[in-house]
Amino acid sequence: MKAYDSLSVSTVLPDELAALRMLAKNLRWSWRPSAERLFAGIDERLWRACGRNPVVMLRSLPASRVAELAADGAFLARLRHEAENLAAYLQSDRWFHERTRATEDEATSVAYFSMEFGITESLPVYSGGLGVLAGDHLKSASDLGAPVIGIGLLYTYGYFSQTLSREGWQQEAYTEHPPTDLAVDPVLDAEGQQVHVALGFPDGRSLDIALWEAQVGSVPLLLLDTNLPTNPEDFRAITDRLYGGDAEHRIRQEIVLGIGGVRAVQAYAELRGRRQPTVFHLNEGHAGFSGIERIGQLMAEGETFDTALAIVRSSTVFTTHTPVPAGIDRFDAHLVQRYLGSSGGHTLVPEVPAARIMDLGAEDDPGRFNMAHLGLRLAQYANGVAKLHGVVSRGMFAKLYPGVEPEEVPIGSITNGVHIPSWTRPAMMPVIDAMNGGRDLATSNTWDDPDAVGAEELWRIRGELRAELVSRARDSVRASWKARGAQDAELGWVRDVLDPSRLTVGFARRVSTYKRLTLMLQDRERLARILNNPERPVQFVIAGKAHPADMGGKQLLQQLVAFADEAGVRDRIVFLPDYNVTIAKHLVAGSDVWLNNPVRPQEASGTSGMKAVMNGCLTFSISDGWWDEMADDSVGWTIPDTSGVDEHTRDALEAGALYDILEHEIAPLFYDRDERGLPVEWVEKVRRSIAIVGPKVAAERMVRDYVNDLYLPAGRSARIAADRVETRAFASWLGDVRAAWSSVRVESVAAAGPAPRTGESLRLSARVELGQLSTDDVLVEAIVGTPGEQGDLLGARIVQMSPASERPSEFLADVPLDAPGRLGYTVRVQPKHAFLQAPAELGLVRYPV
Ligand SMILES: *Cc1c(COP(=O)(O)O)cnc(C)c1O
Repeated sequence: MKAYDSLSVSTVLPDELAALRMLAKNLRWSWRPSAERLFAGIDERLWRACGRNPVVMLRSLPASRVAELAADGAFLARLRHEAENLAAYLQSDRWFHERTRATEDEATSVAYFSMEFGITESLPVYSGGLGVLAGDHLKSASDLGAPVIGIGLLYTYGYFSQTLSREGWQQEAYTEHPPTDLAVDPVLDAEGQQVHVALGFPDGRSLDIALWEAQVGSVPLLLLDTNLPTNPEDFRAITDRLYGGDAEHRIRQEIVLGIGGVRAVQAYAELRGRRQPTVFHLNEGHAGFSGIERIGQLMAEGETFDTALAIVRSSTVFTTHTPVPAGIDRFDAHLVQRYLGSSGGHTLVPEVPAARIMDLGAEDDPGRFNMAHLGLRLAQYANGVAKLHGVVSRGMFAKLYPGVEPEEVPIGSITNGVHIPSWTRPAMMPVIDAMNGGRDLATSNTWDDPDAVGAEELWRIRGELRAELVSRARDSVRASWKARGAQDAELGWVRDVLDPSRLTVGFARRVSTYKRLTLMLQDRERLARILNNPERPVQFVIAGKAHPADMGGKQLLQQLVAFADEAGVRDRIVFLPDYNVTIAKHLVAGSDVWLNNPVRPQEASGTSGMKAVMNGCLTFSISDGWWDEMADDSVGWTIPDTSGVDEHTRDALEAGALYDILEHEIAPLFYDRDERGLPVEWVEKVRRSIAIVGPKVAAERMVRDYVNDLYLPAGRSARIAADRVETRAFASWLGDVRAAWSSVRVESVAAAGPAPRTGESLRLSARVELGQLSTDDVLVEAIVGTPGEQGDLLGARIVQMSPASERPSEFLADVPLDAPGRLGYTVRVQPKHAFLQAPAELGLVRYPV
């Protein structure tokens, strides 16, 4: 019979179990295995069926099970223990408190903006690496007690889930996730009403944004939602999907995140009596419009644009995440103009002159508005996400800082990391704890006891993790084939897919061209021979999603799936659909080797390999991203990269090296067993990898670096800039410097003395025309080095020069001479002011003509 109508019935928890709801609403359970087990143990099947989402599971529990739990003394004791643990965690003073106690830095508080946050599978507001990084940032900030508030979007449909067609073509499905299904609560005002912020669109309509809040331990995550009945249809759709839709859709999302986000976090801080954020961290360019909103607020208070910009810059941190130019977020300039830059007052931030906004996002192509350039121009603090990525970013954005050497471009680097308790499987945690001598993992820089756990024990745990992966992979392969239309009768072979004792290579990441999912398929016969080696067999477990609009990516995926479908190899190379953080956890832990073969230097950092390290899986990678600064044969294998050849040759050479190393180095080491059946050398390598690399790739280390190197300095410069009188003076000085700069010249440079010798000093003098500026306004430097063939200076050293006279200005420096040979020298002049973090910031430099 058919239902006439339907309604939902939900379970109300009795008082004895009320703490379950509290535990479910703080996402800390997602990195506390005993809390996760508490939920899972209530009803394993229901737990899996509802996507490991405690909010939905608790609501769906049958009344009989609720009654059982309420009468189960052992369960209630565990529940009480978890509830007390959470309460104690939330109250304890942690690292940040120690770090800043009784200093001005105590007042620093950070608003962290990101388009996505990957915290758990059950909060579907992420797609991949950027989101997982942001999630790990918040979790680590919580563990360190750092005063961070996350700001993101609450997507009605999140990101897509992936299945395959019979032909191995990626299929996307979007599921609606009502906020009531998620671990989020409405942010309520004093009257108990959900807090909203509004944005006045240029077409006269008002966009209504509702605020939700998730708890990531002690860190709140504010999520903005436009899917409200008060909004017209097109506005409701703004926060529908992550990375879905056209440029117009994207700019609207970024407007909500940036402009709406600033208003939201301010309203939230006010309401909760928290400190207003003093530092604004833009995780990628997506939230760049936040700076425009903040400039607008300061201009509404009567400041000039230049003063407002100086204040915003003093307190903004910008992190760039891609060295691939095509990965940079750029809008058609007309589109930006339509929302933010039209004259006549009808814009989202009417206080800020249109031309100034357009200048902030300007790039080579006058038709484009570049969000990375916007981020860099709004932030006095900027970084890439690994050392090599820092180098590449300094080159990539050098044009914004003309006249200085690439290494002086003011973009630093903080290498990414992964949150240890989230990514280390519970079975592996005691190993790390032992290596670290039981100290607090969030604050220890070295794990000094690699031998703390015996080889047999370590190998046993590794075997357990591999077996767990194999069993999950079999389930996943079976489910995937059934979804592709296969009958059970055809699937007998799936029982024997993979082998828990075989060398297992993992590869999982977003399918984008530079990551080269199919590099391993360059020589299919060779790969098949390696997989089927009778003495030393190898198996691959692979996962990854292609962006729905990326047809090229979907083709690569299809090629891989087609290869994995072949009868000769299908039991030893498998593709697991719907890569997400839960699958990632099992993949990085159950694999023996984590393969990473991007085109160098296009992988900014990569983080999946770091997760692998935490679990004793060894790195097998191109020297790119994080591995470039840690590559070491004693802890992994490096595929030599080739440069200066065409793409095809490069791929062929690098694939050849991949096969060679796998066949001749990795597999023999894995299968070289002693009389106990132990691969002694392999286990040694695993130990070294965990102990040496582990602490360096921890997100806990990363967040401490952000605090020490960027947040606290930005907090300090923000406090200085908060003195409006000083900042107005700086802004007016800046105007004077720009106006005077055309008359600044290095008129002559001279070296005193006829025959300089090593051990002596060389006196250099320079006559500098300063126009309207004074000697205090400039930094004059001598640069010495070996003259190269093109007249450039090699191995240059920089020596600051001091004024010897006022007018005409003469500057002097004594340069110690320590090596014989040719010495080249020059002099340069840059503006100097206490408010500048780096002289290169202004892009004003003069050399002798
Ligand atoms: C860690 C992770 C990523 C990022 O992996 P990369 O190695 O940086 O490409 C992407 N997706 C998921 C689900 C992850 O867990």
